[in-house]
Amino acid sequence: MAPTPPPVGERPLLLDMLHVEKTFGRDIVALRDMNLAVNEGDFISLLGPSGCGKSTALRLISDLMHPTSGRIQWVGGHGRDDLGIVFQEPTLMPWATVAQNVWLPFRLRGQSYASVRDEILEALKLVGLEKFQNAYPRELSGGMKMRVSIARAMVTRPRLILMDEPFAALDEITRFKLNNDLLELKAKIGCTVIFVTHSVFESVFLSDRIIVMAARPGRVIRELVIDTPYPRSEEFRTSAEYAAFCRQASEALGDAIGVAA
Ligand code: ADP
Ligand code: MG
Repeated sequence: MAPTPPPVGERPLLLDMLHVEKTFGRDIVALRDMNLAVNEGDFISLLGPSGCGKSTALRLISDLMHPTSGRIQWVGGHGRDDLGIVFQEPTLMPWATVAQNVWLPFRLRGQSYASVRDEILEALKLVGLEKFQNAYPRELSGGMKMRVSIARAMVTRPRLILMDEPFAALDEITRFKLNNDLLELKAKIGCTVIFVTHSVFESVFLSDRIIVMAARPGRVIRELVIDTPYPRSEEFRTSAEYAAFCRQASEALGDAIGVAA
């Protein structure tokens, strides 16, 4: 297990979004004046209705595109190994085995399979798929494909993992299970996570910080701190505390949708 991160507010800064704006064409403001300090060990959810700029924020953080104005500063700079990304679609190569799919980030840097076999198996073990290393994606369920995608994102042990609605297409039971497993995985490898969702329940269960966003223009309207300590289990999911946080987050989301209309 990685050491438990200190409480929110006492964690070292990992990256800072400063007055970040992104516009498309003349008048689509995808993101307006976003300021977000991401700390080491945070589990942050970006929660908001469709079109509020969640994916745009992730793309900007991952350098897949650049802000129209403002900047994103990593403390001490960053390299390509500092980031892992998981999308809603698992985006696996159908012709490659599970293990070969997880090898991809290493392969892109020119590292042979043999030289990173241990890391690949360890990542598959962490997502509970070590027995499926030689299977092909078509043989896997939706949840298992997503696990492979998560293993691939974390196999290089990035400092930050970005996840864009990774479980949105899964049934609720699979989603709950993956939520539990994701928290366990994060505790084991000690990374920072920014997780995009439009589910209040998912964001409260997973996060220690929820950034509530509104659309047109895309912007942050509130931050909620969920200070229930980890590990969180089914007990948390059924607690009065959880219900109260969900109510708070729902109200904030209601405001977000209200002001966007
Ligand atoms: P979310 O992920 O919260 O649903 P997005 O970040 O995808 O929202 O989009 C925010 C806004 O920016 C939306 O109005 C969307 O239509 C617009 N947008 C996103 N990407 C592009 C693009 N490449 N070109 C034009 N408009 C875009
Ligand atoms: Mg999106």
